[in-house]
Amino acid sequence: MDLWFSEFHTPYVKFSIQIDKQLYSEQTEFQRIDILESKEFGRMMVLDGYVMLTEKDEFIYHEMIVHVPMAVHTNAKRILIIGGGDGGAARELMRYKNVESVDLVEIDKRVVDISREFLPKTACGFDDTRIHLFFEDGLKFIRHCENEYDLIIVDSTDPFGPGEGLFTKEFYGNCYKALKEDGIMVNQHESPFYDEDAFAMQRAHQRIVKSFPISRVYQAHIPTYPSGHWLFGFASKKYHPTLDFDAKKWNDLKLKTRYYNANLHNASFALPNYVEELMEDV
Ligand code: SAM
Repeated sequence: MDLWFSEFHTPYVKFSIQIDKQLYSEQTEFQRIDILESKEFGRMMVLDGYVMLTEKDEFIYHEMIVHVPMAVHTNAKRILIIGGGDGGAARELMRYKNVESVDLVEIDKRVVDISREFLPKTACGFDDTRIHLFFEDGLKFIRHCENEYDLIIVDSTDPFGPGEGLFTKEFYGNCYKALKEDGIMVNQHESPFYDEDAFAMQRAHQRIVKSFPISRVYQAHIPTYPSGHWLFGFASKKYHPTLDFDAKKWNDLKLKTRYYNANLHNASFALPNYVEELMEDV
């Protein structure tokens, strides 16, 4: 009998993937974690019924959440990841020699343990000694940081459950305070396509605009996320995401990537009209 995993993208839209087997399942203090094996997408991590990553398309999300800000702030040394317990963002950061330390604050230690066991290609980033793991709520951690980080990457779950606090005005204000004078914050910014997601995205954008002098949104195509059209937020104290981007400097690093490249960097900030309109409405 065929086994299918389905995720509701809206009350009227279901996205389904055929599953070979369920490799693991656990209800932690914070969420339910499932690891599934599929023919099309390889192994998948699902939190509370929502796909977090699949082996087939995680490179798109992780390259875009890391290389876009790293190509703008070319001397980022101290970095904070909030969430990101699968290790994908850490893995991409570890490819930069100038990175001295990465504090990764994940609320649920079991996400890290389970990723290490079942998703070694993603969790391999944790093996580097520059990574320091903290198992606590990012909302609380950031309250005590001041002028410390060059880059903050908010690699969180959606704006409900444990991730809810990471979309608040208080959180963005504290990220601003935690960054150095030329710091950048990027965050996973939901999808603009379905109404409910677009509303959450708009609300987050509105709060970021109030907290940072420079705030833009960029996009990527991520097949297993709702609608496939995904946004990231880029908020900065000093650097402009495209005007301060030096393509030659990034190309000279000779990092091999499968999605991100210098042309795509600039193009990803060119938004469709309906998304620009959503941004204007805030
Ligand atoms: N790429 C993913 C996505 O958008 O679908 C996000 C992946 S990553 C697995 C998200 C992580 O954020 C989860 O492991 C979750 O436990 C963590 N998280 C959620 N709320 C958090 C909080 N308040 N503080 C720190 N980590 C949090």
